[in-house]
Amino acid sequence: MPVNPLDQTPGKPLLSLVVPFYNESSAVAYFFQRIAPVLAALDRFDCEIVCVNDGSTDDTLALLIAAADQDRRIKVIDLSRNFGKEAALTAGLNESLGDAVIPIDADLQDPPELIPRLIEQWQNGYEVVLAKRINRDTDSYMKRKTASLFYRLYNAVSDIKLPENVGDFRLIDRQVLESLKQLPENRRFMKGLFAWVGYKTATVEYAREARSAGESKFSGWRLWNFALEGITSFSTVPLRWWTYFGSAISLFAFIYGLVIIFKTLIHGIDMPGYASILTVVLFLGGIQLIGIGVLGEYMGRTYLESKGRPIYLVRRRYQKIKN
Ligand code: UDP
Ligand code: MG
Repeated sequence: MPVNPLDQTPGKPLLSLVVPFYNESSAVAYFFQRIAPVLAALDRFDCEIVCVNDGSTDDTLALLIAAADQDRRIKVIDLSRNFGKEAALTAGLNESLGDAVIPIDADLQDPPELIPRLIEQWQNGYEVVLAKRINRDTDSYMKRKTASLFYRLYNAVSDIKLPENVGDFRLIDRQVLESLKQLPENRRFMKGLFAWVGYKTATVEYAREARSAGESKFSGWRLWNFALEGITSFSTVPLRWWTYFGSAISLFAFIYGLVIIFKTLIHGIDMPGYASILTVVLFLGGIQLIGIGVLGEYMGRTYLESKGRPIYLVRRRYQKIKN
């Protein structure tokens, strides 16, 4: 259990910011600079900033520790290696103690100035306050198109709908966080898990900015895998498709078989047909391999999940204790 060395004022609610850092040395200083006035204005709250170092190979950790040394509100959770953003976020959420918790990116693409508006809705009684971006001009044309395709596909096959243009930046109430913690899965598609727990939800809109410094950690390939993860974690519809697809092809084959039998009975055997046989054989071979591939996607995930390994490992925690 994480300890709370903050000398929290009784009766004052605690706000936790959860920030994953992976090779963000060029963004660390900007982040604390911009967050400071926002938190200063929120003096009705006690605050903690839970920074997760997700196995950075640059000096992100040193910078975070230095920042924590200056400010008791900053906690640093150093993971034993790079576990990926979803795991880092899970680590931060597990370590946070706030009555309201806000995951936010280190690169300031989620503007901290929105936080007071998130809190306002929370105080109006919403347990989840989503931050929805109204623009995607910081993303490339390809990223925008593929993202929108992903949401369409995801929402078509999954019972739990994902709100479009909403990332991990949001406010969640302590109760929502406790519910999230009850989801034991090891492969975590956070957006899906957030949506799965439900609760009373409000939405606040914002304009997404460009990265403060450094570059995106998500290449096209990583995003593709992320999309696969998302869909297979929350839907088994792709498995079912194969049953229907297979049935349709069998029906077609049966009818075609009848046609050939009758043709043979009436006209006798006619030999040519090499091209059509080869086409059908190759087509069916391909279809079967794709079907096995889809099965494999799910089986591989079941296999990894069945090991029950921890989601992440913490090397060390840093926080300045009161002098
Ligand atoms: N991140 C992380 N582990 C990773 C990749 C990214 O903790 O393996 C963090 C990263 O430091 C940043 C956030 O996740 O705070 C979002 O990453 P990024 O800005 O690269 O993603 P994008 O905004 O391009 O989708
Ligand atoms: Mg970013």
